[in-house]
Amino acid sequence: MAGSRYEYVKKFELPDPLLLGTFLVLRIDGHAFHKLSEAHDFTKPNDERALQLMDHAARNVMNEFNDICLAFGESDEYSFLFRKSTTLYNRRQSKIITTVTSLFTSSYVYNWSKYLPDKELMYPPSFDGRIVMYPSPKEIRDYFAWRQADTHINNLYNTVFWALVLQGDESTTQAHATLRGTVSSTKHEMLHSRFSINYNSLPARFRKGSVLVREQVMPEKAVLLAPAAEGAASTPDVEGQGIPQPSTRKPPKKPKAQYTVELLHCDIIGDEFWDQRPYLLA
Ligand code: ATP
Ligand code: ATP
Ligand code: MG
Ligand code: MG
Ligand code: MG
Ligand code: MG
Ligand code: MG
Repeated sequence: MAGSRYEYVKKFELPDPLLLGTFLVLRIDGHAFHKLSEAHDFTKPNDERALQLMDHAARNVMNEFNDICLAFGESDEYSFLFRKSTTLYNRRQSKIITTVTSLFTSSYVYNWSKYLPDKELMYPPSFDGRIVMYPSPKEIRDYFAWRQADTHINNLYNTVFWALVLQGDESTTQAHATLRGTVSSTKHEMLHSRFSINYNSLPARFRKGSVLVREQVMPEKAVLLAPAAEGAASTPDVEGQGIPQPSTRKPPKKPKAQYTVELLHCDIIGDEFWDQRPYLLA
C-alpha cells in the first residue's frame, strides 16, 4: 500500500533494541502507592489481599509472556526475568516495557474487586516500568538477592513501626524517632519484649516476598499413551490377531514439555533455589 506524503514522520522514530545475549529484568512499581494504600485503607504494615492481587497480576503477565521464567514481588513492585535468548518484539525496549506494564496494570484493576470486594477502587492506579540488562548469572543472582534483602529490611522496620503506632500508642513521628539508628537485632528484641511478636513466625509472604517461577512438569505416564478420546484406549490389545489398528500403531509422540507457574515464598538469596533450577540462568 502506498503511503501518504506525511509518512516521512515515521523516520523520526528511534530504534531501541536491547542488547542481544543479555538477561532482561523488567521491574514495575506502583505510582504513589503510599497514597493509594492510605486512600483504600490497606492493613498496615501488610495488606495480604493487596499482595495477593499483585501476585495475580504478575501471574497474568507470566501466562502471556512465556519467556519470563521468574518473577519476584514485594509491596507495590514486581520484577520479571526474561530468558537471555528472548526475541520478544525483536527485543524492542519500549514495546516490551509498555506492553508488560500496561497488562500488569489492567490486570490489577480488572481483579481488584476479587481481592478487595469491600473496597471500591477510588481512582485508576498506575505503575511505572523499566528494563535493566544484565550480562551474567552473577548479576541476576545479586539482583534478586537485593530485592529480597529489601523485602526483609522494609518488613522488619514496618512491623516494629506499626506495632509502636497501633499497639504502643506512639505517633508516627515518635515511632520513626524510636527506630532511628536501631540495628536489626534491636528491632527483633523490641518486637519480642514489648509486643510478644516473634518476627520469624510472621507469614513467609511478608518476610520473603512472592516468587513466581515457571517449573517444568514431568509428563505423567498416561500422557504418553494414545489419548482415550480417539477411541483407542477402550479397544482391547489385539496384538498378533492380524487386524490392523492404525490409530494405535502410530509411534507415541514425544510429549511436549509442560510448564506451570508456581507461587513460592522461599529464600532466593542462598544457593538452594538456584541449584534446583539451573534453567533459570541458562
Ligand atoms: P513511587 O511512586 O515513587 O513509587 P510510592 O508511594 O509508591 O511512590 P514506594 O516506595 O513504591 O512509594 O512504596 C510503596 C508504598 O505503598 C509502601 O511504602 C506502603 O506504604 C504501600 N503499600 C504497598 N503495598 C502495600 C500493602 N500490600 N500493604 C500495605 N501497604 C502497602
Ligand atoms: P500490534 O500489537 O502490533 O499493535 P494490532 O493487532 O493491535 O497489533 P494495529 O496495527 O495496532 O494492530 O491495528 C489495530 C487493529 O485493531 C485495527 O487494524 C483494527 O482491526 C482493530 N481495531 C482497533 N480499534 C478498532 C475499532 N474501534 N473498531 C474496529 N476495529 C478496531
Ligand atoms: Mg519508588
Ligand atoms: Mg511505588
Ligand atoms: Mg515500591
Ligand atoms: Mg494501532
Ligand atoms: Mg495495536
